[in-house]
Amino acid sequence: MSDSYKILIIDDDPTLRLIAEKKLQQYGYVVLTAATGKEGIQVAIEKSPDILLLDYELPDMTGVEVCRYLRNHTLAIDKPILFIAGKEDYQSIENAFQAGATDFSSKPLNWNILVYRIQYMLRAHEINLSLISSEARLAKAQKVAKLANWEYNVVDKSFKWSETMYDLLDINPQKMETILLEDFFQRIPEPDLYTVQQAITNCIENNISFDLEHLLITGEGQHKIVSHLASVIKNELNDIVEYVGTLQDITERRCTEDQIRSLAYFDSLTGLMNRESFLTSIDAVLSGNEKYDLLSALLFIDLDDFKRVNDTLGHELGDLLLCEIADRLKQCVRTAEQDREYQTDNHRMIKNPLPDGVVRLNSIDIQRFDLARLGGDEFTIFLTDIPNEEVAASVSKRLLKALEKPFILDGYEVYVTFSIGIAISPYDGESMQVLLKNADTAMYSAKTNGKNTFRFYAHEMNARALYRLELETDLRSAIENNELHLVYQPQVCLQTGKLIGAEALMRWTHTTKGDISPTEFIPLAEATGQILVIGDWLFRQFNSNLQDWKQKNLIPEKFKLALNVSSLQFHQSNMMEKVEAVFSDSELNKHIEFELTESVMMKNAAANLEKLNALAKRNITLSIDDFGTGYSSLSYLNRFPVDTLKIDRSFISNLEDNGQIVIVNAILAMAKGMNIKVVAEGIESQWQYDFLKDAGCDIGQGYFISKPIRTDKFEKLLNDN
Ligand code: C2E
Ligand code: MG
Ligand code: MG
Repeated sequence: MSDSYKILIIDDDPTLRLIAEKKLQQYGYVVLTAATGKEGIQVAIEKSPDILLLDYELPDMTGVEVCRYLRNHTLAIDKPILFIAGKEDYQSIENAFQAGATDFSSKPLNWNILVYRIQYMLRAHEINLSLISSEARLAKAQKVAKLANWEYNVVDKSFKWSETMYDLLDINPQKMETILLEDFFQRIPEPDLYTVQQAITNCIENNISFDLEHLLITGEGQHKIVSHLASVIKNELNDIVEYVGTLQDITERRCTEDQIRSLAYFDSLTGLMNRESFLTSIDAVLSGNEKYDLLSALLFIDLDDFKRVNDTLGHELGDLLLCEIADRLKQCVRTAEQDREYQTDNHRMIKNPLPDGVVRLNSIDIQRFDLARLGGDEFTIFLTDIPNEEVAASVSKRLLKALEKPFILDGYEVYVTFSIGIAISPYDGESMQVLLKNADTAMYSAKTNGKNTFRFYAHEMNARALYRLELETDLRSAIENNELHLVYQPQVCLQTGKLIGAEALMRWTHTTKGDISPTEFIPLAEATGQILVIGDWLFRQFNSNLQDWKQKNLIPEKFKLALNVSSLQFHQSNMMEKVEAVFSDSELNKHIEFELTESVMMKNAAANLEKLNALAKRNITLSIDDFGTGYSSLSYLNRFPVDTLKIDRSFISNLEDNGQIVIVNAILAMAKGMNIKVVAEGIESQWQYDFLKDAGCDIGQGYFISKPIRTDKFEKLLNDN
């Protein structure tokens, strides 16, 4: 045993002091003695002994009083104190422990044993000290590293958090004694909460470690980002002994990273993408487009007379204006992703109209867009995956409208106009550099054309786009003005030549432009969402015709009237409610067939199957329109309740060509095998008619039989039949 340990004996019995001194010195202890309580306290303060032997009864005060004093007032606060009592009295033992005694021994003392007891007490004390110090070191290290940890005890199923958790959560430890798992969960905001709960449960129940980053809301209401890792701890026998997790505050690191990223990729004035990142991101899109035959549009937007603004209002307000423009551009360009309800729920579209001037980029038009400030007063928008250039025109038109409203700068009302140049990829260039140059050229042409307007790079696109834009505006009033109507194209049984059905086709008779083909206005209506309103009209009109003819007894038992249902119309979430509201008579429904294209059916196949089954329940049958132009795979259409297949006109019009014959024969054989009826569309000659009849095709439709005719004429035809 170390010879440097100091031991203080406080006892009024001189013999005991003497024996103790001799005995302990033999073991190398430095022995200090005191005969009274007062003296003992004084020696303890002055000499700071490593261990104390304290008599229970002293002449001037009790041992308990001495002990309490030392514990409360001096450096001996944590030193082991061994009480020595004259009798084994449980009350005095209790009193001694209450006052802070470490251990207890009663007279007469067995010195050989007592020496060992002293040694053990000193060793235990040392271990305790080193534990406290390493815990303190760990806590300090954790504090510096902003690290907290938790342990889950497998035996008692309890959670324990490190002290540093209070710092991490900014909670006052005095206010909350223990942190419960629920308290921790309460500090995680919604989107992350589920993930963290799941991860912790998974860790404990299925022994799966995790590594997550998530948000925490501190007691001060601030957000912190933490990196949260957890793993399973096993012993040598591979039994799980505990689960431990660490949380590190990485908020600062994140902020720095964000700052670096933002400096590199974003315009410091407006926060929009800068030139470099815009060019890189667009280049990636363009190289992807080559593969898929997709169109993209680059809109080059330039402020008219920015110099005038700068000269009259000063550069500071000029900068402010640019920021306001950026904000307005950001606000008024949105993707359908952000306004998902638009596509799926017509009601919501009416309940929550977009703020005035917001340009909705319907996702059937545009999958993605990018917005940047190239520098100065030049802004660019890149529209990806657009179906045609008209989308770019209508976006430009609406942008100009949104930018027309005055900007309020420091109390001044400032009116500015813009010129937009449009280049379409791949027509006007396949690389970003070329597109940018051409969009810039187009922008100059817009400026020379009187400003506050847009121009395409290719001239022929201008006229076409303008025409489409006019149509789009006119289409809005077409329903109210009664300009839409239905025509019916008869279908005959090829084997008997008898009229067995018809396809309803929409027509728009424009007051000044005359008849406009559905191939022109339907894609336009799809792109703008107007098809939903038109589709509602179509349902009602079609049903009222059918009802009318049925009442007049003109509809034979097996007669079918087909209706084309557009993609957007079919995919809206309340489609079935609309069907149920209009087509409520299941007797009448037996005569209704919905025509859908393959691509409509294949998009969202699972949800469609539900709708198609619901239609079948209401006696409405299903026909695949334009078969052969899309997926052309009957085998996977097999899982839908398909009744009829319409071979696309393009196969029939080239039927004389040997290759087409092979295809048509194959489709007929396949359909027969699957018990699906086949309609041949676009029969234009006797030869085609005869061929299809001999090949075993069920139904024919086409100009050779009849062009689509007006309802009154069709009614007469039904009558004659
Ligand atoms: P579709 O559903 O494949 O309709 C057949 C188209 O082929 C009709 O054109 C019809 O007039 C035309 N056609 C029929 N027989 C012949 C022929 O022998 N020779 C030629 N050259 N053409 C023939 P239409 O009426 O111009 O409609 C074009 C497309 O517009 C339709 O193709 C359909 O996809 C869409 N459409 C028409 N009406 C509606 C409607 O009410 N709702 C929806 N959603 N789409 C419609
Ligand atoms: Mg059709
Ligand atoms: Mg068709």
